[in-house]
Parts: sequence; C-alpha cells; structure tokens
Amino acid sequence: MSEKRDYYEVLDVSKDATEADIKKSFRKKAMQYHPDRNPDDPEAANKFKEASEAYEILADSEKRSAYDRFGFSGVESRFSNVNSGDFSSVMDIFNSIFQNDFSGDDIFSSLFGRRRARRPSGPQKGSDLLMNYGISFEDAIYGTKKIIDVPIKKPCPDCSGIGAEKGASPETCPECKGAGIVMVSQRTAFGTFSTQQTCRRCNGGGEVISKPCKTCRGTGDSREDERIKLDIPPGVDTGFRLRVRGKGEKGRLGGPRGDLYFRLIVDSHLFYKRQNDNIIVELSIPYPIAVLGGDMIVPTPYGPEKVKIPKKTKEGNVLRLSRKGIQRKTQYGINYGDFLIIVHYAIPGKLSENEKELLTQLKDKMPLPKKQEKLFQKLIDDSKKYKVNH
Ligand SMILES: [Zn+2]
Ligand SMILES: [Zn+2]
Repeated sequence: MSEKRDYYEVLDVSKDATEADIKKSFRKKAMQYHPDRNPDDPEAANKFKEASEAYEILADSEKRSAYDRFGFSGVESRFSNVNSGDFSSVMDIFNSIFQNDFSGDDIFSSLFGRRRARRPSGPQKGSDLLMNYGISFEDAIYGTKKIIDVPIKKPCPDCSGIGAEKGASPETCPECKGAGIVMVSQRTAFGTFSTQQTCRRCNGGGEVISKPCKTCRGTGDSREDERIKLDIPPGVDTGFRLRVRGKGEKGRLGGPRGDLYFRLIVDSHLFYKRQNDNIIVELSIPYPIAVLGGDMIVPTPYGPEKVKIPKKTKEGNVLRLSRKGIQRKTQYGINYGDFLIIVHYAIPGKLSENEKELLTQLKDKMPLPKKQEKLFQKLIDDSKKYKVNH
C-alpha cells in the first residue's frame, strides 16, 4: 500500500462521527471488500485491511483520541505491521477484534444475511463433501484412473454469494428490525404469555434481500463443475473411500477448502462374486468328472486356471485356489485373497443319439446308492408293523 490514508477518510465518516456511525460505516466497507466476496482480488483485500485497521483504532475511544491528537504516530495498529500478502494473519486480527466488538452479534451472519449458532472465529476449513461413485467390477479389480467433472458449490459469481442484485445489498428486516427474533403473545387459560420466536421474514438473519440476484435467485450459491482426477487403486471394494484433498467446500475467512471424498460402489459381475478379498464362483461340472475326477479350465480375473476336480466330488463341495482371489495393496505389501469354487452337477440339455445310448447303458448298470437302499428297506418294514386306526 502506498501513502497511508486518514482513518476517517477510509471509513468515510466525519471527525465527530459517533461510535454507531463508525460501526455502521465499517460494516458497509467490510461487506463490500470482504475476501469471501472478492476472491483473488488484491485491491479489495487491501481495502479490507485498510478499513479493518481504521476501525480498530476509531472504535476504541482511547486509541481514537490518541489518533486525533498525534496522528498515526500516536497509535499502533496491529494491522500496520502485517504484510498485505499474508492475508490469513489479517483475518486472524480482524476476527479477534470482532470477538470483542460484536460479541453476541455475529458480524458475518449479518454480512452474509444468515445467522447460525455463533461460529468460532478465525479462518475455518470448508466442509468435506462425500459423493457416491459407481465403478465396474473390472475397474475395482484392476484399478483405474478417471477424470470426472464434479459440481462444487461456490459463491454466485454475480453477487459474490450475497444473494442480492448487483449494487443492492441486504436490508435490515422490517419485521424484526434486524434482531432476528420477534415476540409472540399467546393467550391461554392461564394468562397471556410472550415468547421469542425466530423471525419468519428473515429466518433469523436480521436482514432481507428485496432485490434478489437473478443468477442465483437469491440463494448466493452457484454450482460449478470442477475437473477431478481420480486414481483408483486395484482391489477396492464397495465402501472404499478416496480422498481428494482441498476439493471440498470453500473455507471461511481465508481458511482452506475442505476435502472431497468419493465412496465407491462396485457393480456386480456376471460370474465373479466377491466376499472380502475372496472371489466366489459357481461351477457346473459333468457328473462323470465329479465321480472319476478330472481337470477343468476356470477363468479368473488374473487369467485362466487349471482346476483339479478330485474324484468323488459332491454337489456343493467347495474347491479353493489359494491366493488366486483379489490382489490388493496394503501397507504390508500385496494381499492375496482366495478363489473359491462351489461345485454343481450339470444336467445336460439336448443329447446326441450316442450320448443317449451311453447314458442308457450307464443307467441300467449303475447300482442304487447303498446307504439309501438300506434305509428304505427299514422304513418299508416299519410301515408293515403299523396300521392306521380309523
Ligand atoms: Zn447471485
Ligand atoms: Zn426479521
């Protein structure tokens, strides 16, 4: 900043301005030049710092009289030592002043027309955002890189997040006169009670916007697509969260942006089913292989595997291919799940004449299951001992 301007001039007030005048004028300036509303504008940032400094001195009766008598040399402002490039320290000082001067009257809620529970002062990190993001089974297994456009909430560019039309600013709510609360009287059998209620006109903000911004319809928000690069590691499953630092909502008062989280949702697969790091498949095998044993080629995400089917494999038996399941990187190295095969007997569909003949031969020669035959004989004998008593 070049030549230092007179504090009264900065705040646009006369030498005999009252404390209320000074406060009112400063609110106006602060609102106009607040960095939240003028991102990346060094001119506004300087104006904001200048106004804050003037306010720090003039709002304090002792400092003000020292300034009136001795000029700049009579007062020392915390702002004057701050390099204008280092904006977060300006915000720190600014906030510490407002903790004293506007206690119980959150200046930022009035600045921005919203009143919430009193916020902690100082720069605040923006909110984290969470998005669900669907990926294919293959992308989850092998990992992939994605480029996505994510709509991020930003202050409306036309009204800088205020919600009022250009040139207009929020006005004191006529309903509650800016208090944000109204008294409501209720007559009951026990007498008349007065209770405080949040003003409906301004939703407790104390200010109303009579000329809403046309771009954002008064909400102050705009959604802007932001290009995000996602690096999805191999082996992820549904519920896995990826963090993209600094891509969440904008911070307050120069605070950093929040983070953006992607919660992955993995599509199901035609053949492979996943259970933790294991892959489970259902395999149909011809009955002779189940009886006599044999080899079968089974696809896995990492290539075909020759699977040895042991003889006398029963329907529903589970075969395990160790370490052929999901491959996932952990802090201890690659973790390998297993590949589990549930065996089912296949009933053949259409048969050739030759097959039909072979099966018929087999049917005629095949002994019945011995255990079952024994049991059946016992049950038949049993039934002869009893007669139904009609
Ligand atoms: Zn707007
Ligand atoms: Zn109101």
